[in-house]
Amino acid sequence: MKRLALCHTPTPVWHNRALDALVGCELWVKRDDMTSGAAAGNKIRKLEYLLADALAQGASVVVTCGGAQSNHARATALLAREHGLQPVLLLRTPDPSVPPPPVGNLLLDRLVGADVRFITPAQYRERERLMAEVAAEFAARGQRAYVIPEGGSNGVGSFGYVSAVEELAEQQAAGDLPEGLELLAVACGSGGTAAGIALGLTRFPEVAARAAAFAVCDDRVYFEQTVARITAEAQALDPTLNASDACALLDVHDQFKGPAYGVSTPEQLDFIVRVARVSGLLLDPTYTGKALFGLAHLPQKPRRALFVHTGGLPGLLAESELTAAAAARADAGS
Ligand SMILES: *Cc1c(COP(=O)(O)O)cnc(C)c1O
Repeated sequence: MKRLALCHTPTPVWHNRALDALVGCELWVKRDDMTSGAAAGNKIRKLEYLLADALAQGASVVVTCGGAQSNHARATALLAREHGLQPVLLLRTPDPSVPPPPVGNLLLDRLVGADVRFITPAQYRERERLMAEVAAEFAARGQRAYVIPEGGSNGVGSFGYVSAVEELAEQQAAGDLPEGLELLAVACGSGGTAAGIALGLTRFPEVAARAAAFAVCDDRVYFEQTVARITAEAQALDPTLNASDACALLDVHDQFKGPAYGVSTPEQLDFIVRVARVSGLLLDPTYTGKALFGLAHLPQKPRRALFVHTGGLPGLLAESELTAAAAARADAGS
């Protein structure tokens, strides 16, 4: 597989005793919130493979989609510009005639001059077709546009997390991380990260016994099907990978996703504040906050786990009112 070197690797593995006590197990954190500067997070690992593919195909434009505060769209826009590609983003918002405020991820999209096109939630369900139409629009002008699916979650993108598991195996061999972890835990929004981790565990089984994906939207059945599709795509590209073994290693937990995608319970926001105050670790409300909250509330907690911190800081900064309210609750209680 062709790959661009975009990430600062290896990302650190990090351990904090006060956080162990809060979460209720020995918790190692893979700091994939540190994969880069402003482009940091999990998406850049997928984009190492996706943008390499785009360049190999001679594309001059990349088209992708997501919510208005999509971390994936932001990482794609920044990295596309770095490689001389023009980013086009189809972003979901309740009413496109009232554009969302240019804060957080959207501010960065604007800064690099991404061609941002807002679409309704109903249109977003037709995103594959709409992105193909954008590609056709550029083709008519003689430009090749490379379409990246939501979250960069397809077979090509999943190789980013196969590589991340290899990186964990190397960190274990170097003594930076205990061997034989019970669990690799990660937030799950479009399934590509969980799919890559599960595939990686089939290749490097010494890293951990199982993987847990904490859904932040949809449900368990949806993600089991999505991960099955993505892993099958990856196996078609690299027959040494085994999709069905990968799926058997993964548990999807959907009971911690909160009221809706991007909407948290007060308990979830309070948890983010507690984690920040005991350990300095910052979690975002949409993904990592819900996932670590889920791990901390599993009925059968592992003894020793690794949480993949997938980033999302710009999304946290865009939710300043809610986060500030949770911080004020903590001040009042302490
Ligand atoms: C996209 C994202 C995820 C989820 O990864 P998927 O591969 O889409 O399941 C988790 N955390 C953050 C911060 C993200 O931006």
